[in-house]
Amino acid sequence: MSLAMSLTVVGSIAFDSVRTPFGERERMLGGSAVHFALAASLFTTVRIVGPVGDDFGDDEFRVLHERGVETDDIERVEGGESFFWRGHYEHDLNVAHTDDTQLNVFGDFQPKLSEASREADVLFLGNIQPDLQREVRAQCSARLVGLDSMNLWIETTRDALVAAIAEVDCLLLNDAELRMLTGEPNLARASRAATDIGPGVVVAKRGEYGAALFTRDDFFAIPGYLLEDVRDPTGAGDSFAGGFLGYLDGVGAGTKGAPEPDLRRAMAYGSVLASFNVEGFGTERAQSLTSEEIEERLREFKRLTHFEEQRVPNPSGP
Ligand code: AMP
Repeated sequence: MSLAMSLTVVGSIAFDSVRTPFGERERMLGGSAVHFALAASLFTTVRIVGPVGDDFGDDEFRVLHERGVETDDIERVEGGESFFWRGHYEHDLNVAHTDDTQLNVFGDFQPKLSEASREADVLFLGNIQPDLQREVRAQCSARLVGLDSMNLWIETTRDALVAAIAEVDCLLLNDAELRMLTGEPNLARASRAATDIGPGVVVAKRGEYGAALFTRDDFFAIPGYLLEDVRDPTGAGDSFAGGFLGYLDGVGAGTKGAPEPDLRRAMAYGSVLASFNVEGFGTERAQSLTSEEIEERLREFKRLTHFEEQRVPNPSGP
């Protein structure tokens, strides 16, 4: 029997050192699974799966526990070191430059999920080695499975990644990564080509420009919520995925035959969660986020993207 409203996520649980034009931070709490979990926890119960080292302490666990995230499946490896990522952004914040990636305890992680994690309704395979994503996928019976990845895995483990994508319902990737994966320069064609690998839904994340959702015969697109103060885009993609899948789990929808209005609302929630994430460094903003703030920004987002149809009479004819 599956647990009502519950979501399992596997992905990196990390320390991030980040430099943007607006500042610099050393060893902040980060990782794809962490950013995702904090966003999704505003909609549903989240269980996070993955290894950490001795360096992952009470302060880091507290951030997750304060949001009600279940951490029983976080494995603490004695003598090990947590995943570490160092990156920077130039004036164009849409492009992340990786300076260092240390898999550390993820290097020989063999996932063994608890029963509660295996039985979740929704599973998110956050960015990490595709073989690990597949090992977790194989243990879960979720009705809706989403997957994210990045250029590193497209370049170094493409076959494993394609095999992982073939086993999910929803693929979420950056526009540039979709082009790289499929070899198609046009985003609509690239997204359609990605649905041919298996997932019925492909979400192309487009940084500050928003996101587009493609099914085999339809599409829906929304802009980004334009902010005047963006400090650190790290984790925006994972927060988007957390809002998107968290909302779908919260309303009990799957993407296999999910009602179109639910998918559209999920896109809006994804954008809203991503927009909050980039306002602060690391998990700073997500930690203090409330449901009221989310609903308020969602209403504002709806107002900003709405228009009424009204034709101008054609002066040269009927
Ligand atoms: P994004 O949402 O795309 O900005 O993802 C940012 C997060 O991805 C950071 O918190 C990093 O710790 C994590 N990350 C960076 N590179 C990798 C990688 N190769 N595998 C897994 N996670 C990564």
